[in-house]
This record gives sequence, C-alpha cells and structure tokens, in this order.
Amino acid sequence: MSAHIRPDLDAIPAYVAGRSQPGVVKLASNETTFPPLPSVAKAIAEAAETVNRYPDNAALELRTAIAEFHGVAVENVAAGCGSVALCQELVQITCLAPTDEVLFAWRSFEAYPIVTQVAGAKAVQVPLDGEFAHDLDALAAAVTPNTRVVFVCNPNNPTGTAHGAAAITRFLDAVPANVLVVLDEAYFEYLRMPADDAPNGVELGRNRPNVLVLRTFSKAYGLAGLRVGYAVGAPEVITALMKVHIPFSVNKVAQAAAIASLEARHELLERTNAVVAERDRMAAALRAAGYRVTDSHANFVWLPLGEQSAAFGAASAEAGVLVRPYGTDGVRITAGDPHENDLFLAFATDPATVARFVG
Ligand SMILES: *Cc1c(COP(=O)(O)O)cnc(C)c1O
Repeated sequence: MSAHIRPDLDAIPAYVAGRSQPGVVKLASNETTFPPLPSVAKAIAEAAETVNRYPDNAALELRTAIAEFHGVAVENVAAGCGSVALCQELVQITCLAPTDEVLFAWRSFEAYPIVTQVAGAKAVQVPLDGEFAHDLDALAAAVTPNTRVVFVCNPNNPTGTAHGAAAITRFLDAVPANVLVVLDEAYFEYLRMPADDAPNGVELGRNRPNVLVLRTFSKAYGLAGLRVGYAVGAPEVITALMKVHIPFSVNKVAQAAAIASLEARHELLERTNAVVAERDRMAAALRAAGYRVTDSHANFVWLPLGEQSAAFGAASAEAGVLVRPYGTDGVRITAGDPHENDLFLAFATDPATVARFVG
C-alpha cells in the first residue's frame, strides 16, 4: 500500500523539464548561451572550496549588494532559491483559506497556477488582450475582497509583451492598497523602451508598500543552474518572506556567484544587446515569412499558432531545434546564438513549413 498523498495534487501535472538532447539545439528555456564570465567562474570555484560550511541563511552580503545596486535598504531585499521559490513563498505569506484568491493573467508564467494550488489557494485567471499583453483594466476589475496577491509578469513569459511605466502606474493606482501586487521582472534587462516610459518596478514601488518586485540571476545574468533570485519590497513583506523561506535554500556557491555577477553587471548587461538584436532579427524574419509575431521585450519570440502549436513544436524538434509549445496558445522560441537561431529560421521559413503553419 502506498503512502497517503494529498489527492488535490493529482490535478497538478508532474514536472516535465524542458527537453534537451545531445546534438540538438535547445531554444526552449530562455537561458543565456554565454558561459559565466571568468570573474564569476572564479567566485564559484572559491566558494566551492568552503561548502563543508552552511551558507549564510540571511544572505546578508548578497542582499546588501542588491540593496546598494537598487538604492534601497537591506530590509527591502529577500533572496530566494530562484525567483520561482519566491513566487511560492509570496503565496504562502498571503494565502491561508481556500477562498483566498491569487490573480494573474493567462497565458503567463506556468509557475503561478502551480504555486497557487500547492498553497491550497484559488487561482483567478484573466485572459490576455488581443495583442497577447496583460489586460490591465480587466485584471484590476477582477480584484475582489478575497484577492490576496496579483502577479503581473512584465515582460510577460511566454508572450514577450510588456507595459510601460504609465500603464503599470495606472494599474497600481486601481488596486486596493491591501492587495499585494507582484511585478515579476525576470526579463527586465531585455526591455528597450524609451527611458521616460521604461517600467522599473523598483522605482514604481518605492512609495507603495503593497508592491513587490521579483528579479532573477537566471536570465540576463546567466546563472540559471545556480538558482538565485530576489525580491524588493516593503520590510513587512520581506520579513514575512524570510519566515517561510526554506532554511539555507540559497546556497553558498549561488550567493558568491550572484555577488560577483552584480560586480560584473556592466559586462553581463552588455551581452543582452546581442540577444536583443537576435530577438529582433528573428521576429523580422518570421514576420517576413508571414507569421504573426508579438512585440517581444524579452529574450524570446512568441508565435500565437493556436491549435497548430504542438505540431509546430514537433516539426521543429524533428528539424533539430527544441522550442516550447504551450497547449493550444502558441510557441515560444528563445533567442540563442546566431547559428542556432539560423537553424530555427531555416526550418520556420522553409516554404513547406510556411505552407503548413501560416494560414
Ligand atoms: C525564468 C522566470 C523566472 C525565474 O526563474 P528562476 O530561475 O526561478 O529565478 C521568474 N519568472 C518568470 C516569468 C520567468 O520566466
């Protein structure tokens, strides 16, 4: 007889990792293709020599570096085992009753419905608008007395769309001050909006204690394999996050690598220019071939292929490029190295592919 497991978990699909196969190009996980900088690799190697000791559970040195970077106090910063762990912790600190609501747009980051269900809370999803962007008015209108937290993924994974500072500010003004608004900015470093409307959650949240910003070292900073992300928010929210935090889950090597990455940020962020150029090149080539392509502000492009999404993903894999299909919504393709993107474009813009998938 097997052990009793919560039956409601049957509704959550078992985790299936993004596929990878030797010799196949993987454009499915929004990773950076660049290896760690020498200074970061050195910090990793040095930290590895001390792993017989526990990490600093409060991650004080890392949080201090992040606080300095953003011009906030260390009390405004929490670190997490990837920002996905912080998503889970944010639901844990806001929701207890099964009637407590977690509100988010859909389609958006696939972790939101999972962490909501794991916490036993109620997910409320608001469809994206016709341009595959957050419908911020509908999202604000969906707030009820039971809403405890709203996730706003800006730029949105997997559609790449983003709202500027003015639109986000209007949204924040429309949400009651007792509802936590989480601005998930995992792709912040790939935004190239005019400075006067660039949405920087840390700035937008400075005088709003119900706003919390998530950033990660997994994407532009290239540390996906080490698992470290952070939250910037009001001290009360940060204190609560630290209460539910799994002890020592931000490991020593990750802390050291994140500190070294912040020090090397100018070099790392320069790399995002090449990724943004590739993203725009891919979008232009796909549009020229007849595809509908959303306006992406992240390190990937989105093809809203509807019912054809799974078939497109399978055909791309057969052509040697793994991409990420999402149900009957669309397919997300990460901007990789130019030669990898060329391989994908050769498949996608091949007349036979176009005949099959562009209607
Ligand atoms: C990748 C991603 C994250 C962060 O992932 P971690 O590796 O856990 O830091 C968070 N939110 C979104 C929307 C993402 O796409």
